Amino acid sequence: MESAAARREALKAVYEQARTCERCSQLASTRTTVVFGSGNADADLMFVGEAPGANEDKQGLPFVGQAGKLLDKLLGEIGLDRSKVFVANTIKCRPPGNRDPLPTEIDACQDYLWRQIDLIQPRVLCTLGNFATKLLRGDTTGITRLHGQAEVRVIGPRAVRLFPLYHPAAALYTPSMLETLRGDFARIPALLEQPPPDQPEPVPEVEPEPVPEVEPEVARVAGAAEPADDQLGLF
Ligand code: URA
Repeated sequence: MESAAARREALKAVYEQARTCERCSQLASTRTTVVFGSGNADADLMFVGEAPGANEDKQGLPFVGQAGKLLDKLLGEIGLDRSKVFVANTIKCRPPGNRDPLPTEIDACQDYLWRQIDLIQPRVLCTLGNFATKLLRGDTTGITRLHGQAEVRVIGPRAVRLFPLYHPAAALYTPSMLETLRGDFARIPALLEQPPPDQPEPVPEVEPEPVPEVEPEVARVAGAAEPADDQLGLF
C-alpha cells in the first residue's frame, strides 16, 4: 500500500479501532478520550512521546499542555509546525494520576504504534524520553546516554532514522536539559535532508483478521459513540 491517500485511509481505520479500545481495562475506564495522535499522515518527521496527560485526555490531542507548547516552540525554531509532522505517544490513553505507563499497557498498545509508523512511513522518528526510546530500540539503554545520536533502525517492516531526544516535559524545568534538547532539535533538518534509509525486503502481507460485524442497534445499546469526525480531520 504505497499511495499517501491509501495509507491515510488505512491510518483512519486504525484510529477507528483504537478509539474504542479496551485492551487495558483500567485505562479504558478512566480515560476521557483515546489520544491516537495528530498531524500529517504522510510526514517525513514523526515524534513519539510517552502518554497523554490531563489536557491531552480532555482534548483528544497529543502534546497540548505545557510540554506541547515547548514542542511547538522547538519545532518553530527549526522552521516546522505540527501540520508538517505527526505526533503520537507510546500509549494512547492517559494513565490515571499521570503515573508511568505499565509494561503490560505498553505491550497492549504497541501494535497501534507499529501500524502508525508503518503507514505514515516517516524518514526520521524522534523518540521523546525514555519510554518511547526503550520501546522503539527494544532495549533498556536510557535517554541520557542516547539523546542526539541518530541511528538507522528497522522498526516493524520499515527502516527509519531513529533520533532519541529528551522529553520536553523534563526540559521544562531544567535549563541545561532544555539547551541540550534545543541543540539536538537543531540537527533535525540535516537528518531530514539525508537520503531515506534503505528499506528491508518487504515481507508478504498477512490478511488481517476479519472484524465481526456489530448490529447498529446493539452498538447503540452498548453505548458506542458516534464517529468523531473532528479527530479524523486531524490527519
Ligand atoms: N507528554 C507526553 O508524553 N505526551 C503527551 O501527549 C503529552 C505530554
